[in-house]
Amino acid sequence: MNVECITLGPLETNSYLLSDDATRRCVLVDAPPEAGEHLLSGIRERGLTLDALLLTHGHWDHMADAHLFEAPGVRVFGHRDDVLCYEEPERFMFFYQMGIPGLTEADFRPVKITNWVGEGDTFELLGKTFEVRHVPGHCPGNILFYCAGDNVAFPGDAIFKGSVGRSDLPGGSWPTLLKSIRERIYTLPVGTVLFPGHGEPTTVGGEMRSNPYARP
Ligand SMILES: [Zn+2]
Ligand SMILES: [Zn+2]
Repeated sequence: MNVECITLGPLETNSYLLSDDATRRCVLVDAPPEAGEHLLSGIRERGLTLDALLLTHGHWDHMADAHLFEAPGVRVFGHRDDVLCYEEPERFMFFYQMGIPGLTEADFRPVKITNWVGEGDTFELLGKTFEVRHVPGHCPGNILFYCAGDNVAFPGDAIFKGSVGRSDLPGGSWPTLLKSIRERIYTLPVGTVLFPGHGEPTTVGGEMRSNPYARP
């Protein structure tokens, strides 16, 4: 499975294109602003077929373009605790408009989650098994997608290289975030590569050793 990082949008959000050379199928993790423009035609031109969109959480910078990837046969995964963010993103418009000038109502479009998933759920994509871990604290519906076969995990904004997600946003909680990291991220094999929602990749072991905010 190839993992390509594409950083997009005003908040420099990472989306990840997972693909399989043999079957020419792919999966997208998160759909930041500009993802439609930058990825939709590219996927088609490379002869790839999109099987699924995995949404780590409902914050606008991770789901703004999700609706552009909706299509028959494309499964869209998310956690129900972020249902308002997915179905009524315009409710949060004023919050983002404070920091990002020029945003209008047209930038806030809902996405239909076809597969609501939660802690412990597993599913198959690209011939691999993915496990869902619920890692709230940055927001209520942040989930991590773990693929043991490839030793990779996508934690959204729960943890970053040398840092952790903000817990001061609506629905955030610092004790909850710390508990999520300790119980559901630091319990992954230490060699697991983490591909976070912002910044560079890291490893579970690396963060357990040196993350200044979340000690094991
Ligand atoms: Zn976020
Ligand atoms: Zn983010």
